[in-house]
Amino acid sequence: MRPVLALGVAASLLGALPAPPAASNLVHMRADAPCRPGARTLSAPGSRVYPEVGNGGYRSLHTDVHMVYDSGRNRFLAGNHVVLHDRATQCLTGFSVDFERHSRANRSAGPDMRIRSVRVNGAVADWHFARPGTRTHRASQHVGAACTPELPEGTKNLNSLNGTMCPANKLVITPTTPISSGAAFRVRIAYTGRPGVHNDGDATTEGWFRADDGGFVTTEPVGTEDWMPLNDHPSAKPTYDFYDTVDAGRTAVCNGILVGSTKHKPSKRFPNGSTTWRWHAAMPIASYLVENSVGNYTIKKRTADNGTYYYEVQDAGINPAAQAANHQVIAMQQDITEYEALFNGPFPFRSDGVIVGTPSASFEEEMQTMITFEGGMTDPITLYHENMHQWWGDNVSEGSFAMTFFKEGMATLGEDLFTARTAETAAGGPSTPSGQSAFERSLRQTFDNDYGSGGSFWTHAPSNPTAANLFSSSSTYTRSADTYIALRQILGHARFVEALRAIQASYGGRSITEPQLKVAFRHWLPQRSSSCRQRLTSFFRQWFDTPYPPGGGAHRPQITGPGLDGPNFYGHDGCHHAA
Ligand SMILES: [Zn+2]
Repeated sequence: MRPVLALGVAASLLGALPAPPAASNLVHMRADAPCRPGARTLSAPGSRVYPEVGNGGYRSLHTDVHMVYDSGRNRFLAGNHVVLHDRATQCLTGFSVDFERHSRANRSAGPDMRIRSVRVNGAVADWHFARPGTRTHRASQHVGAACTPELPEGTKNLNSLNGTMCPANKLVITPTTPISSGAAFRVRIAYTGRPGVHNDGDATTEGWFRADDGGFVTTEPVGTEDWMPLNDHPSAKPTYDFYDTVDAGRTAVCNGILVGSTKHKPSKRFPNGSTTWRWHAAMPIASYLVENSVGNYTIKKRTADNGTYYYEVQDAGINPAAQAANHQVIAMQQDITEYEALFNGPFPFRSDGVIVGTPSASFEEEMQTMITFEGGMTDPITLYHENMHQWWGDNVSEGSFAMTFFKEGMATLGEDLFTARTAETAAGGPSTPSGQSAFERSLRQTFDNDYGSGGSFWTHAPSNPTAANLFSSSSTYTRSADTYIALRQILGHARFVEALRAIQASYGGRSITEPQLKVAFRHWLPQRSSSCRQRLTSFFRQWFDTPYPPGGGAHRPQITGPGLDGPNFYGHDGCHHAA
């Protein structure tokens, strides 16, 4: 994500990392273990940001979206449903999904939807809505009372609703017979009504934004449940197939690859005819990265020489001059992808793309393989940012919302690399010594400028956000990006790149925790003596986990890479990365 109002400046040793345990191995249930309901959260106790979302007791494997949508009335019609394919990680008497069918904070643009039926493995199941916490399940007890507040847009006092009781957004499903541990099961949920936006803890909205010609979907962090029931946590990453039936003349745009479209004759639901759009996403997609916009969109597809598809999608309501300007930016996506792959390793997906919608939607977002630009406009630096997310946030997702800094830092590094690349080109290009030193000078300047900055750059620890400052440009974005710039200096460029590629190889398609991230980078220290390792531990603690006084004060992080502001990381203890 990149907030619209916060525009800023402008061959690996794979397999060396120990493979993290597969999620399915984390739960060892004896066959005779008692059956019980799944937890109604995936957050660790004490989580401060969005502790109420996610659901336990099962893993989300695949989702079929069967949307039936009247774009003129902005309504899901009869027949609209999703099928969630899950696998139980315990014996389940029941389980839950997240679904905000009504918004208590936003009556006009919030959702107004109704469950029509719920079936588990084809059999009608009982269902009801409940709050996240229950008395009987310790894992979810901690979110029983206070939820992330839903603030009206423009709220000044972002703490005004702290401590608010959680709304009953858990769709609790009870099948007729328990589901045994390890069993795959299928949940069909039919619903109708008006999708909408979610009001966030930082007084922005996200979700299904109404457009003149349909809806525009951009949902970080939790707005997907405002148009579709799901396991709404970034660590839940099913694959997707979309079968979207919309009015004739409208286009549905989703993640992955456009398989085709089928036209239907006029019907009672669609008197002027309809079209079913079929998109296939073979890769796991985190909760907030599911794209599904509908409108007067024009889809252009280009195939790169390596076989990757690049989609350019623009709303026909954007004036021709602006569309032409957007095309100039979107046409850069292959070049940007190949450039970012020099750092991150191969692009992880079969396709990539950009969709430009007309509504004003709070932010641009890295929807997986279909980056959203709001308000009819694009720009190159944001494309560098959102495209970098395809590796960081999308392929390797944050293990919790508190880890947002991990992927926003990498995406902001993508912006810094664009700035450095521009300087490098102006100075003679990447193959010249003058170009190379301009590149390094640019990154150093970025770091030095930020290091001396005030605001919340130093006062918030990136790894301990509140809902109010989760998307703070200073702490979540800039400070984390500068950490990676310093880390590159510490490891040296080649080892930094090897670390990024190894993390992609080990955690791609899944999510990563903060301890796992630190261990992964530590593996690539040039000198792995215990003193050098301790130094890196202190480095991460200072940069990611410690708040400082405004401006940083006397004790702001002193451990950085060589050549950057602050004393040399290696000091005199000989853990230098290059002789
Ligand atoms: Zn971002």
